[in-house]
Amino acid sequence: VLISLLLGPLLTVPSLGQTRQQPTIAQAQAAPQVRPQTAAQGVRAERYVIDVRFEPEKSFLHAQATLIVTGANCPGAVELELNPRLKILGLTDAAGRKLDFARSQRLGSPKLVVHLAEPCAADPQTTLAFTYQGTLPPGPLDYITRDGILLRDESRWYPAVDLSAFSLNDFTILLPDGWIAVTGGLSAETSKPKSVHWVTDQPVSSRSLAAVPRIKACGPVLSRATIALAPPLPFAVPTCFSAPYDATTYPLAVRVSQSLQLFSEVMGKNVSGLTLIQGFPGQRGAIGYSGPGFLVVSEDVVKYAADPNYAPEFLPHEIAHQWFPIEVTLARQEDGWLAESLAEYLAWRYLAEKSPEQARRMVARAMRDSMVPQPPRPISRGLKMFAEESWEVTHETLYQRGLLVWRTLETVIDRERMDRALAEYYRRFSGTSASISDFRQICEGISGRNLSWFFDYFLNGTELPEIELRRLPSTAPNEMAGEIRVQNVPPDFQVRVELRIETSGAPISYSLATRGEVTPFTVTTPNPVTRVVLDPNSRILRWTEAARRNLRQRPLLLEAAEKERSGDFARAIQFARQTLAQDPENLASNEQQTRFLLGQLLDRRGQFAAAFKEFERVLYLGSLDALETDFHHAWAHIYRARILKRRGNLPAARQEARLGLERPSPALDTQVPWSDPPGRLTSAASELRALAAAKIPGREK
Ligand SMILES: [Zn+2]
Repeated sequence: VLISLLLGPLLTVPSLGQTRQQPTIAQAQAAPQVRPQTAAQGVRAERYVIDVRFEPEKSFLHAQATLIVTGANCPGAVELELNPRLKILGLTDAAGRKLDFARSQRLGSPKLVVHLAEPCAADPQTTLAFTYQGTLPPGPLDYITRDGILLRDESRWYPAVDLSAFSLNDFTILLPDGWIAVTGGLSAETSKPKSVHWVTDQPVSSRSLAAVPRIKACGPVLSRATIALAPPLPFAVPTCFSAPYDATTYPLAVRVSQSLQLFSEVMGKNVSGLTLIQGFPGQRGAIGYSGPGFLVVSEDVVKYAADPNYAPEFLPHEIAHQWFPIEVTLARQEDGWLAESLAEYLAWRYLAEKSPEQARRMVARAMRDSMVPQPPRPISRGLKMFAEESWEVTHETLYQRGLLVWRTLETVIDRERMDRALAEYYRRFSGTSASISDFRQICEGISGRNLSWFFDYFLNGTELPEIELRRLPSTAPNEMAGEIRVQNVPPDFQVRVELRIETSGAPISYSLATRGEVTPFTVTTPNPVTRVVLDPNSRILRWTEAARRNLRQRPLLLEAAEKERSGDFARAIQFARQTLAQDPENLASNEQQTRFLLGQLLDRRGQFAAAFKEFERVLYLGSLDALETDFHHAWAHIYRARILKRRGNLPAARQEARLGLERPSPALDTQVPWSDPPGRLTSAASELRALAAAKIPGREK
């Protein structure tokens, strides 16, 4: 329902060369639109019967939409929205009487008021039969083109009372030969030639639809012999891709299917399956749109499906939207934590099961970056952030900090109770909208505790706890004594803190619930204690040393990049070295990125030997994002090969470039601006291939 943009591989590397652009692996295309709040007028859309014909080449649609609403008979007028580019050709009621309507005079406004023929008639139901048509110019998220169609609710392609209302839908869609279309509900028989027919068996919160032309290969999972031996999927995932559905794209269906299975278990209710469709033609990066029972993904998601490092949380996040907010919609935009943060938390749960290292990195990135926006925004700003803040601030707050709040809730009421609360929340509110306070009341009922302090502090507030461990002298041998000190929290604050006590023997796991500011404890340890790690699995949203160092490093790194752009390389080098000095242990995992910049700067100043060494360090370092690591590795090889070539050592330069090509990664395809000539777009793969094939002038042919 909400467009997700990517996410993981958004790089913050300084520019390569002289251009001012920031290269990105996946470019965020546009911010998702925020749904308007539920219609206040008390009018409800109960049922839509829509007959729509598309002419994709002309971005044109012609539709007859019959809409049944309740609550409009008295006072006898209905406020609706329809895309202003769609011209209304006719409007009648159930008796076939022509109805008066007025469209907003404000330029671009979709508002529309319909006056009923008989105000305050006895029948609570009102039928509005629209005939309309028009051309909708293709946008990044809503488009009717020869390469495919996606019309989200936000496009207002149908007369809407409330974009996220639950309604019964009966759609007949007429497309050119060979096209297929997907919308909410189930595919049904139709007598109309060349049409596809979709009917819902229960109300759904969306009237979005997607379609693809026949050049895309559509088929059920396991349709090909190449994957006949693959493990069967727990849930059917029919797919429509431009790529053949084969061993390369099979992992995509596996991840979708496994996510459906896991979330069905948590929520206690299966979905019937999902149709996966390729969309967003011509756009790079991982982009997704979730509708009821279908998911539209961009070309790169299909292309890099076999690479487990490409946007690992992207698919499970999108799948989680099938439950939240598609089946339980949001009461208000402020409740966005129950959609985006929850999808991010469920994506983490999926990774924790299937790919623990990726799950660990996802949490480490969130712990490091979630307090980057300064001043911090309260999570209760919810979906409003999409319209009011940059994508980075929204991601760091709603996605990353929001995920950590869910994880922290696990330490307050424990995971088993939280899963019960989620299942109950889903059971109780499926098919309607709900708010954070609805969810809080369920958590309080299940845990038997007042949790208002938790929701107030973490969702409405912007403070973070400071949790510290102090060792105390122990009174007995074989005993470790200490205290947990908690600061910056409300009086009711209580979380369960884990300790990993490393000893000369086996490590001991210990956990205790905090009580007030200081919680003393003693642990019996058979062996001498060598080290104690507080919260070793980063379960609690709190200030960490990595987050603090990251906050100190970021302005310095930005300053270094700024000085580089203005040509002041000496000052830029100073700032890069200051960045490194802030975190000698690399707790914030920024060293690779910083050394990469330092290498570039030294290279620009002609200090090639020093640059060569920095790029060597880059090759030994990693970051918290696998694609970012790949990106820096690849470009470090390019810089090193160029330096070797400049020294006249062509065999070594070619060897260096070949090393860079050894591990294929989507990061090698990322288009970045390059200085030679200025502004030229290129990728690491093409630069490495050119260097690997470099010839000695006059000697080799
Ligand atoms: Zn999302």
